Amino acid sequence: VAARPAPYLDDLNPAQREAVEALDGPVLMLAGAGTGKTKALTSRIVHLLATGKARPNEILSVTFTNKAAREMKTRIGRMLGEAVEGMPWLGTFHSICVKLLRRHAELVELKSNFTILDTDDQLRLLKQLIAAENIDDKRWPARMLAGIIDNWKNRAWRPDQVPASEASAYDRRGVRLYAQYQARLRELNAVDFGDLLLHVIQILQEHEDILAQYRRWFRYILVDEYQDTNVAQYLWLRLLAGGHRNISCVGDDDQSIYGWRGAEVGNILRFETDFPGAKVVRLEQNYRSTAHILAAASGIIAANKQRLGKTLFTDGEDGEKVRLIGHWDGEEEARWIGEQIEDYQRGTRGLSPFSLDDMAILVRASHQMRAFEDRFLTIGLPYRVIGGPRFYERMEIRDAMAYFRLAVSPDDDLAFERIVNTPKRGLGDKAVQTIQRTARSNGVSLHEGARLCVEGRLISGKGHAALRELVQGIDRWHGQVVAEADTHVELAEMILDESGYTGMWQQDKTPEAPGRLENLKELVKALENFDNLQGFLEHIALIMENDSEDSEEKVTVMTLHAAKGLEFPVVFLPGWEDGLFPSQRSMDESGMKGLEEERRLAYVGITRAERICTISFAGNRRVYGQWQSQLPSRFIDELPESHVEVLTPPGLYGGGYGAAGMAASASPILAAASESHLQQRAVRADVYNSPGWKRMQSKSSSRRVAQPQEARNITIDLEASSSFTVGDRVFHQKFGYGEVMGLEGDKLVIEFDKAGTKNVVARFVVSATQ
Ligand code: ATP
Ligand code: MG
Repeated sequence: VAARPAPYLDDLNPAQREAVEALDGPVLMLAGAGTGKTKALTSRIVHLLATGKARPNEILSVTFTNKAAREMKTRIGRMLGEAVEGMPWLGTFHSICVKLLRRHAELVELKSNFTILDTDDQLRLLKQLIAAENIDDKRWPARMLAGIIDNWKNRAWRPDQVPASEASAYDRRGVRLYAQYQARLRELNAVDFGDLLLHVIQILQEHEDILAQYRRWFRYILVDEYQDTNVAQYLWLRLLAGGHRNISCVGDDDQSIYGWRGAEVGNILRFETDFPGAKVVRLEQNYRSTAHILAAASGIIAANKQRLGKTLFTDGEDGEKVRLIGHWDGEEEARWIGEQIEDYQRGTRGLSPFSLDDMAILVRASHQMRAFEDRFLTIGLPYRVIGGPRFYERMEIRDAMAYFRLAVSPDDDLAFERIVNTPKRGLGDKAVQTIQRTARSNGVSLHEGARLCVEGRLISGKGHAALRELVQGIDRWHGQVVAEADTHVELAEMILDESGYTGMWQQDKTPEAPGRLENLKELVKALENFDNLQGFLEHIALIMENDSEDSEEKVTVMTLHAAKGLEFPVVFLPGWEDGLFPSQRSMDESGMKGLEEERRLAYVGITRAERICTISFAGNRRVYGQWQSQLPSRFIDELPESHVEVLTPPGLYGGGYGAAGMAASASPILAAASESHLQQRAVRADVYNSPGWKRMQSKSSSRRVAQPQEARNITIDLEASSSFTVGDRVFHQKFGYGEVMGLEGDKLVIEFDKAGTKNVVARFVVSATQ
């Protein structure tokens, strides 16, 4: 490497620098949390670009979330001191595979405008198949079948590749249904998430020329969070890296938390066998967390037997001990955390104020989120939810999207089924069966089947007219999409109006109706950021993988699983109770595998914290409507005592017995925490009736309700600008091949061979020069 000024190399330690500068050949970086693996990976990309080893579109870089990809792009830009000209192949496995599959869809019998199904669609489809086979859906619930199929897909098994032993474990029924499911998906021109990878692998395996082309194309491959790749992802990587072997992976076996989804920590261990001569770099200095936090995390993970084992140290300050507190119930826990957040925001205990963006609540199970959402809405605290039931998963949004999907592709049967009688049109089960039968016997889509039903007057009563109106409506909307007559935003509003969907909620008198109308407005607003409906629908399918970005400061509420790789100055870890964390399932399982994975999750949680980490548990919790009493998590007992401070629960003034309990007990931390918890239980009634408590309550609810809706705003992010320049030959999924004539922000002016000159969003365009 030529000696050039490279400031981005200066803030790396020697081990990181070694990993960054070894540009060619396989490199594995295996190191604990916060040791700068992601930083080194990012610097490596910068180094590839700065030394001219690769152009932005020659680097294939896999991150765990879309958010992580965006962050990486920003950092690369900052390190280079100039805006990066896009990195089209920096993204998640899914987002990269969508792009690849669109280019070669016909090779797996799909059209390039295939739909990506979400879990809900997937389950509906499976239910139909199960019913059609006359199988008892009590013994074969769709959810279970979905789990089995996903699992096989994660191992890259197509129906004919499922090994006999596995297939017979499910009575061969599983495989048969799997094959039917795949056939049905093809008919629908649809894929599920697992297919994205599965199809691309098949294409690469069956077409040597294409594989060779991509091997030339992706000259360098980088993978973050390698410990959580599954077999299919691993195969895909191995195919692409097979020629030049320029692959570098970073990971941490202690943070492997997706075993339940087919991730194979063994992939890390196999790396050196698969890529002989690989350079293996270990990092030991943690730059993220204070010494107390790091020690608490290390103490917990030390209880795992299955680990490679590594040391971690920090040069940083000791900081505050990890804080531990027990609460009466989940609501109280949420209330207390809300107040803590407000304190940190103002500045408390001699700490300077934190921004809301600096704070995160990391939960084990998404049902824990509701208590926080409710609380934060009440007190008007802006928050964002990542990884839970999200905006786009709400019923009204999914209904509206089904209408949009039909406007784009009238043959989308799943969408048709969803809305055929929503709003109620007098098309009951019998009418729907008639439509399905007609469609099937004529070999056409449901929309066409419905047309036949109308023409043949096969549906009686008021259903006939209603169906005619729906069929014509879909024709009309589709016509508008094709003609691009109105803007897609106007069109969307029109569809919701004409279909009667908006009207349905306007007439609805239930308390949720206003919120649903609000969400529909929000949806239409989100459309403005896109060029057309199809682009929007695709984007939505992809954010199944998470994350939205916006400018207002917000507290983050997310699952521990989604928090991997992230860091926050202030972290709350609520719900450390047996049965919740560790999960009941992991405790019931024989062997330690599940429990060890939960423990790694605890390690991931604590190591997200930079300066302050607070763990809490509640004695009572309502789970799916049922009150349960809870015991503190066994992981609390594993926290090294000297790095933990036990706090007094709210409403108990004076405190002090926490420390006393700690000195006296054999299981000190737990005893202290439980003791203060028990005492709280005893004094609870008195406290709640005391004037002091009432004052505290009214204080915290007075300055409130700054439009709770604001806090829920969802905005859609657009990816950063493109890597194209004038004259580039490109491919667009809808308009085909063309040449770039000009650049305008994140849009390109392209003269298409067939479709003429158009302005399109750069992220829908891929280079076609290679
Ligand atoms: P995780 O395992 O959680 O994904 P990681 O190993 O990827 O962690 P990074 O996120 O890359 O760690 O780095 C953690 C923090 O330490 C970041 O804030 C990063 O900027 C900082 N950091 C990394 N390396 C250095 C260094 N050499 N000098 C100073 N700060 C560093
Ligand atoms: Mg990382």
